[in-house]
Formats: sequence, structure tokens, C-alpha cells
Amino acid sequence: MNHASLIRQMTLKEKCAILSGRDVWHTRAVERLNIPSISLSDGPSGLRKQAGAGDHLGLNASVPATCIPSAATVANSWDPGVAEQVGAVIGSEAAAQDVQVLLGPGLNTKRNPLCGRNFEYFSEDPYLSGKLAAGFIRGVQSRGVSACAKHFAANSQELRRMHSDSVMDERTLRELYLTNFEIAVKEGQPRTIMTSYNRLNGTYTNESAHLLQDILRGEWGYTGAVVTDWGGSNDYTSGVRAGMNLEMPAAGDDSAIQLMQAVRENRIAESVVDERVDQLLDLVDATMATRNTAPADMEANHQTALRAAEASAVLLKNDNALLPLDGASKIALIGDFAAAPRFQGAGSSMVNPYKVDSLTDLAGKYLPGLVGTAQGYERNGGDNDALAQEALKLAEQADTVICCMGLTESYETEGLDRTHLRVPDNQVRLLEKLAQINHRVVIVLMAGSAVEMPWLEHAQALLYAGLCGQAGAEALLRILTGAVNPSGKLAETFPETLADVPSSKWYPGEELTSEYREGLYVGYRAFDRLGRGVRFPFGYGLSYTTFEYAGLSVTEEGVSFSLTNTGKTAGAEIAQLYVALPGAKIFRPEKELKGFTKVALAPGETRRVTIPFDDKTFRYFNVKTGRWEIEGGTYEVRIGAGSADIRLTGTLAVKGTGAPDPYAGLPIDCYRTGRVTDVPDESFRALLGHAIPTHTWDRGAPLGMNDTISQLSYAKNPLARLAGRILENKKNKSLAAGKPDLNLLFICNMPFRGIGKMMNGMVSMEMAEAILFMANGHGFRGFGRLVKGFFRKPNLEKAK
Ligand code: BGC
Repeated sequence: MNHASLIRQMTLKEKCAILSGRDVWHTRAVERLNIPSISLSDGPSGLRKQAGAGDHLGLNASVPATCIPSAATVANSWDPGVAEQVGAVIGSEAAAQDVQVLLGPGLNTKRNPLCGRNFEYFSEDPYLSGKLAAGFIRGVQSRGVSACAKHFAANSQELRRMHSDSVMDERTLRELYLTNFEIAVKEGQPRTIMTSYNRLNGTYTNESAHLLQDILRGEWGYTGAVVTDWGGSNDYTSGVRAGMNLEMPAAGDDSAIQLMQAVRENRIAESVVDERVDQLLDLVDATMATRNTAPADMEANHQTALRAAEASAVLLKNDNALLPLDGASKIALIGDFAAAPRFQGAGSSMVNPYKVDSLTDLAGKYLPGLVGTAQGYERNGGDNDALAQEALKLAEQADTVICCMGLTESYETEGLDRTHLRVPDNQVRLLEKLAQINHRVVIVLMAGSAVEMPWLEHAQALLYAGLCGQAGAEALLRILTGAVNPSGKLAETFPETLADVPSSKWYPGEELTSEYREGLYVGYRAFDRLGRGVRFPFGYGLSYTTFEYAGLSVTEEGVSFSLTNTGKTAGAEIAQLYVALPGAKIFRPEKELKGFTKVALAPGETRRVTIPFDDKTFRYFNVKTGRWEIEGGTYEVRIGAGSADIRLTGTLAVKGTGAPDPYAGLPIDCYRTGRVTDVPDESFRALLGHAIPTHTWDRGAPLGMNDTISQLSYAKNPLARLAGRILENKKNKSLAAGKPDLNLLFICNMPFRGIGKMMNGMVSMEMAEAILFMANGHGFRGFGRLVKGFFRKPNLEKAK
């Protein structure tokens, strides 16, 4: 222990209290021992420090900050250096605002394109996610602020996110949903990690000793602190026992008193509490020691956000080399997003931007042939003929039309998964009409995650902006006009249709569980094996120049090859290393990303590029030995410009570890073939190695503390049912109006225990239980308990 003597001076009360937050954004201080309170703030797309009243959903204003491109967009740069630079931007602003812990990056593996928070996460591939997250963490922490890698782990849907149980086999967990965190922890060394809301195979992640002790601290050697997601603590004592160091936001005095009791009753050893306090004090000490509140250079940060957006935009289509635009051509700039770009997602990551550039504002500087701009469509849907006519008239006068379109604010937000992958119909209708008038249409697509593109034929070029942050508009103009050569590639697959995605059938889990039946077959891993075409594959992206790959050499240390810029424009290429084991005995994806590098080359320049192997190159997780193993055999090492564009292939004989085949004799043909669109129970059971947990909740049973407020519609008490219906209606109304009410979304997904955990001590757990008792049909008795609970609310000051 690093703080043994300090901890010896702390009372049991102080120790039990310090592991639970003081308010929405602060830890508790112990003034008599000079232990300060530290401050935590969101989030991954820029600092979101609330100036006034704190709430955790971005409802109240926060101080102006640089809005960087969202994680999904930064990921398209495939450049951990870029992630590090934007991390440093946020770190510098967090430091200036006296924030000690920055709640990001979010690095969950994207299981399905519908997840409402995919814009906040890096990739469908854990290796790429891990490398980028590590870069981001290094950047934040270079400014003396702790990063906080989140949400650990297997948090893949927003629906019922605080209660849903992610059910999967250990191999899928390790290979797809933990490898990203492993890399982030080992290579980024975050001082803080945030557990997720959900359960994992029956246990809340925050109470999972397997995750927090065995894997995080044991296998990965993590020495930082573990914080709950906001309201994600189920049982304080169980969390502390499992490895949690900080319950957030503020559960009042309840938690501390519960833990004191548990220590006294020997349900948890005081030495465990001491250890958790010690780890938290490490965080407090480290971040206070590096505290430096010098003002951030907002202009320099804006420039960094601009460079990041430039490196992250992806050119997806460029027929007849329409781009870059010819300086002399007459341009019509169309679409509501041109004047008011969609540059960030909603929820806890929402930043109050220091300034926002728009294409319209900057058009004069970059588009000398501009004939005009037009809004074209209503942002929130619906047809507006006058707007369309104005746009069409403009398109007639132009040589080329830039049409800015994409997902509007209501499509991508924390708390809500998408239900389809379409862009708004009114935008598509406008695009079709524009294409009839002018066949040179360039689409600038603003969206934080994959969309279907049945309309792509109507455009000759498409530049995918992602959610490109406050400086994105200038980056896009610089790419459109050729000042910058696009160099981003997709960090997630764009399927033809949602139905093509294998997990679609059981995503999202709607009741108790979310069954990860597709196992390892997520993203390109799924499409590769199925041999199913996609709209744009993982790793895809065009450039204004061309690259040639040659001379592959494979050794035990890694690969090297020559990369030449064969075009006339300077540019950067992202070369990707995939590894495959043809004829593998242990089933596995067709190939997997095991390395990558981004190389900038002048026209005609050739460089010898090296990508080293590492401990992850050949490994798989064996559920029988409970360890990482290597299957022996002749591996194919494939170097590609994209997952579907392999340029060079070599082989390497690798000695295996000789572990037994954990799947011998099991009925898991679907996993061997990758045909996982319809996994039978028998196969999923065999993969799990145990019975499939019950998925549907018992509608006749009384509601429990972990059931969600949205389940009030099944309550025994008619008033509770009415309250449930009112909430549901209000939520649906806000969705229909295109303005999702984040507070309502949060409340609907919140379990009853949240009433006690989220209210800053205003409602005790006893009172929350009384409210539930009332909902379960015991109106009078429940009310009595509520009143009693009110008068004996836990009071730490008086507690002995
Ligand atoms: C989100 C976290 C966020 C926290 C604090 C939660 O609802 O899941 O990502 O950091 O709120 O705002």
C-alpha cells in the first residue's frame, strides 16, 4: 500500500465514505487529513465541464471547449498519433478548468451498427480500438489529467443499458470485447477505468471479481482506479469487494453506512476497504501532483481539431475523378448541413463548442466558383417544396453540386439505439431530384456511424465526414478542393442493408438478456466468413493518388514490404496487416487485423514499411485451458489497402502451444462455417458451455429493484401503470418530434435502485424500496414505509 500511514489515520467512516462521490462531479475530501476532493468531467469529444448545476446528460450548459471529431471519426484516421493529439487538446482544457479526471475515451467494440453510442466508440475491431484508445489516453494524461477508459465491458446497446445482461462465451469476451481494453490499459496506462452499466453473464460488471481482479489487475497489471458509470452501482459493498474504487455520482450517505455495517458484520474485510481507498488515493495524489491550471490555447486546439478532421475524413466514391474540384468550376452548395453542420453526437459527450465552422461560412475562401448556397431540406424531416425548388434552381446553374446530408441530431444519441440505418427520406428525395438536373453531385455525408446507401448511384463522389468536430467544415473544404489529400479509411463496415448484419436477429436484447449468439462474427469478421458483399468494407478509403505494394518479406518478428506512391499527388496510405489460418482446427474468423501503419509519401516516393508482430498476432483464447494459446500451422499473412483489398500475401509456419481443442465433438457447425445468422439454441448452449439464461422477464412477478422504470407498465398498482404510460408517451412524443428527451430516456432505462443512487441523498435506498413496494400494489403500506424512510434517512454525521 502506498498510503498506509494515511489510511491508518482514517476512521472507518471516512474510508467507507470516500469510495462514494460527493456530488455529480466530485469525490469527497477528508479535510482534517488534507485529502482533497478531485473533479471528474466528460467526455470523449471535448471537455464538458458544467459551469452551473451538474447533471450528467449534457442538459445544463458547460464551459466552452474545443469539440474534436468524435471517436468513430478519429478512428477513421487509423492514426494513434492523431488520437494522442486530440487527447492532449482535451487534456489541456481539462487541466485549465481544474478537472482531474476526463471521462473518456469510450472504446467499446461496435457489435451492431444500430447502437446509439457507436459514434462515441472507435471501431468494430478491438485491435484498432485499443491502439487508438491508448493514443488518446497518452494524450490526455500528457497534460497531467487522468483519462478514464470506458465502458468496461461488453456494453453494446443503449436499450435497457443499466440492467441488460450481456450473455457470451469467454472466448468471444476475451477476443472481441476485452482485447481493446487490454491494449488500452497496457499501452495507454489510464489512471482510471469506468465499469459499464450492464451485467455480463449474470453479474454487474462493477461487481465482477473476474473482470476487475482476475483480468484487469491480475492479468493486465492495472494499477489505477475503477469508477462506476453514473448510477451504475448496484450494491456498494459488492462493488468494493470486487474491485471498485469510486461509486458515482452521489448516493448520499446510504452507501457509506451500508459498507460500515458490512465491515462490522465481517461481510467484507476492512483490509479490502483499505486497499480500495489506497488505490483511490493514488489517483487523487497523482492528479493533484500534476495539477496545472494554465489556460489552454483555444486557437491552437482548434487547429489540432482541424488536422484531426482532415486525417479522418474518408473518400468513399470518386467516379471520373470528380474530386478534387476544379478551381474554375461553378459550385452549388446545398443542404441544411452546409450552414449548420452536424458535427457531434448527443448525450454525455456533448460539448459546448468554443466556435463552429460551417461550409457556408468558409465557402468564399475555398470555392471561388460558388454560385450560391441553399438549405434544400428541412433538418427535422418532412418535405418543403420551396426549399427543394430553390436548391434545384441553383443546381441548374452549377457545374457541380455539393450536397451535404446525413443523420440529424435525433438519430444518434446516448440512451437510444437506432431502429434502422436509413438517412432521412426527405434528404434522399432531394438528392434524387438534384441528380436528375445535374449529374455531377458530390455528397458530403455527416453521420457518426454506418448508414445504408441505396441512393449512392445518384452521386459521382462521396466524402464521409463522420462527426467531424467544430473545425470539420474547413477540413472538408480543404479535401474537396485538393488542398488536402484524403487519407482516412473506414474503421467499421458499411453493410448494404441492416438485415445483412448477422446479429440483427437478436440485437438489441429487449428484455433481461442480450445474447451475443454471433460470437466472434462481428463486422468484417462476419461478412468475410459469410462471403456476403457489403457497401463499403472495413478498412476502405480512396485517395487522390495511388499506392503500390511490393516485395513482402515475412519473418518471425513481423512483415516488411515496399510502398510506393505511384500517383502525382502527395498522400498517406493506411497499410493493414491481417492474419489468417487456412484450415484452422479451432474455428476462427477468416482473417483478423493484427497491425497497421499510416505512411505519408511524396509522389514517386518508395518506402520500406515494417509492421511488427506482437503477442496478439497468433493467439486465440482457449476456454478449456482458460489461457491464450496458439494453434500451430502455416499462417497466411496478408497485407491490404483494406480488408477486401489484399495486395500481398506471405506465409509463416508457427509452432502451436498444443492446447486441446475445446470444441471437439460440440454441435457448433454454425461457428465453424460462420453461418451465424440463425444460431440454434443447441449451438449457443454448446458455445456458452452452460444453459442459456432466461431472456424474458416474468410479467406476473413483482418488480424488483433492478427492474427498470419502463417496466412500470407491468406494475400491479394501477397508478404506477399510469405513471409508466405517461413516461412512455412523453418519451415517444419527444422521439416523434425528432428531439429525444435524454432525461426521459435515462429514467426509462433506469432501474428502481437508481432512485436511491442518483439523487444526491434526497431519496434513501429504503425510500426507493418503499416506492417499489407501492408500485407492486402495496400502496398504503408502501407509503407508510416511504414516510418512515424519510424520517430515518441515513445520516453519516450521526452514524457510528
Ligand atoms: C455515461 C458515461 C458518462 C457518465 C457521466 C453516463 O450516462 O454512460 O459515459 O461518462 O454518464 O456523464
